[in-house]
Amino acid sequence: MTLEQTIEVPVLGMDCAECTQHVRQAIAAVPGVSAVDVLLATEKAVVRLDPVRADRQAIARAVEGAGYKVPADRQAETRAFGRSVSRLFGVLVIAILALVVAGEWLGVFDWLTARLPWPVGLAAVLIGGFPVFHNVIRAALRRQVIAHTLMTVGVIAAMLVGEWATALVVVVLMRVGDYVERFTASHARSAVRDLMAMAPQQARVERDGQEIDVPADSVQAGEIVIVRPGEQIPVDGVIVSGQATVNQAAITGESMPVETGPGERVFAASLAELGSLRVRTTHAGRDSTFGRVVHLVEQAETSRSDVQRMADRFSAWFLPIVAGVAALTFLLRRDPLAVAAVLVVACSCSIALATPIAMLASVGAAAGRGLLIKGGKHLETLARADVLLIDKTGTLTLGRPQLTDVVPLDGMDPDELLQLAASAERFSEHPLAHAVRAAATAKGIAFLEPADFEALPGLGVRCTLSGSLVSVGSERLVGAPTDEARLASLLEGGKTLLYVERDARLAGVLAAADALRPEVPEALAEVRQLGIRQIELLTGDAERTAAALAASLGIPHRAQLMPADKIAIVRGYQAQGHRVIMIGDGVNDAPALAQEDVGIAMGAAGSDIALQAAHVALLRDDWRLVPEVLRIARRTMSVVRLNIAFTAVYNTVGLTLAALGILPPVLAAAAQSIPDLGILANSSRLLRQR
Ligand code: ADP
Ligand code: MG
Repeated sequence: MTLEQTIEVPVLGMDCAECTQHVRQAIAAVPGVSAVDVLLATEKAVVRLDPVRADRQAIARAVEGAGYKVPADRQAETRAFGRSVSRLFGVLVIAILALVVAGEWLGVFDWLTARLPWPVGLAAVLIGGFPVFHNVIRAALRRQVIAHTLMTVGVIAAMLVGEWATALVVVVLMRVGDYVERFTASHARSAVRDLMAMAPQQARVERDGQEIDVPADSVQAGEIVIVRPGEQIPVDGVIVSGQATVNQAAITGESMPVETGPGERVFAASLAELGSLRVRTTHAGRDSTFGRVVHLVEQAETSRSDVQRMADRFSAWFLPIVAGVAALTFLLRRDPLAVAAVLVVACSCSIALATPIAMLASVGAAAGRGLLIKGGKHLETLARADVLLIDKTGTLTLGRPQLTDVVPLDGMDPDELLQLAASAERFSEHPLAHAVRAAATAKGIAFLEPADFEALPGLGVRCTLSGSLVSVGSERLVGAPTDEARLASLLEGGKTLLYVERDARLAGVLAAADALRPEVPEALAEVRQLGIRQIELLTGDAERTAAALAASLGIPHRAQLMPADKIAIVRGYQAQGHRVIMIGDGVNDAPALAQEDVGIAMGAAGSDIALQAAHVALLRDDWRLVPEVLRIARRTMSVVRLNIAFTAVYNTVGLTLAALGILPPVLAAAAQSIPDLGILANSSRLLRQR
């Protein structure tokens, strides 16, 4: 038996969907490869292979055979196109295009053609167009027709009628167009790259009593890491000793530093601004919250949206259509120059770029602000959603409930009641469990050792304590009858009641209060303004508790729901044709989050389930991110629509003018890179959000 491995190979030179397809095919053909994912955004291939039959070198050879590059030093190469030169680049391209237009108008190219001998022209075209011809021939040998194939035919047509200067200009402009495309793609990636650049590199760990520097991703769980003032925290972990002001902007997008100390959690890629820390590692490298966020952002482009699938389908038809128009032009008008113009004016890459460029820019920029969107598809759905369902505990409320009342029954001792409850809750991750444990710890109560622990999602917990069966949870969990009158006053206050039952007898009731997140009312008002008509509170909590909270927010509610009920409600809405967003905290609601059209998880930093199950993860507990993600979705979709409309109109007008002979080949070639520049400028707006 052999173990499969997943490796990542950087690939340079991919500008559009067409190219990723070629790379994918080339790698898939390598023996021993079982799966390939080619990511345009981060310029790499993720390959699953059998290490005995294939290796990194074999993959690199395949990629290079397909005409793309595998850099030895990734950093040096990708930095070549920085964000800072973007303005300059645009100006430069426009200057070149202006020169060409002026040259055509003044007749410079005709003059050159007349003066210089033909062989000189041919040589210039061959040299200037070498990289293009090279790719075209290589693709042809593999029986592939690429966008440049048609353009090359156009160049040949111009050469045949002796217009070598025209051919030369076209060839040069084809290469300018390539750069524009590469630049556009690279620019959209910049936000994702900025994010990756924040990944911690080195960690200082204590091993055998010594401090040694090791790569951050090689730190093992349980190892102690030392962080000095001003240093980046290299791993996810729990502070063992030390105090520090930690800035978590890299993960949560919140740049306000927080004071942390022993027992508190810290995340890789955050910064210890003041103070030193010793941290016990829980997760490092790709397993850390930051590593997973980066990974999910990289994966985001593999979930294709409907618009994108449409664009892909269209670009597959594009080359045949252009070839058809060229053939018609030749048959009807017998004008080789018009044919050349038709072949060079069209540009399938801009159609392929229109959607992913905008989505990439948005997903990347959002991740830098603590908003993880796991795919362009979700942006599209968010932009069209009309129902918002909200989970209560930990989502609407702070999720840090405090125990307010301990009501023992049947003459039981209050401390004993608390001990029973806290011991039963010992292994529960539920916010209410934390509250019970904290109250017991504060009173110095020792915990008992629970046996046969069982967590019942949406109900509570059950276990055996010193031979007795103990249950803690909602009214529906316990069988024993309750004295309504005594508890009514607690319920009216909107508190959550926890019933504690021992051996089928009610031992007492605990009450916990959880404050509403202060920014909720304003955020909900904004969400309503953004056109989400129906907002509803769904909770597993008691009817009266839910009613009090829902009334204060002016929204309807449904209480006493099991996780399965929540899913059924979502399905109900979906069956009526609604697009549903659900917001939860991943505790007890992960299945419902995954069922939604879009599931949004609050406070996903450090919560594996929330990060995994949700489509959108808010890495910061901040409701203002909810209207924000809706706004981002709408802006992205409007940029996408504009990109698509622009390219479609541009290509149609361009093809028509070229076929009618109104647009000479030189101007057609100049026109070709304009849609790309438009997409670049339009999509850049998304990088500069907020
Ligand atoms: P929500 O839908 O508000 O997020 P949950 O589905 O997490 O609430 O839980 C619903 C109800 O189940 C809680 O109000 C509480 O009464 C009970 N419950 C769930 N888990 C626990 C637990 N670990 N300890 C005590 N009660 C619990
Ligand atoms: Mg919950």
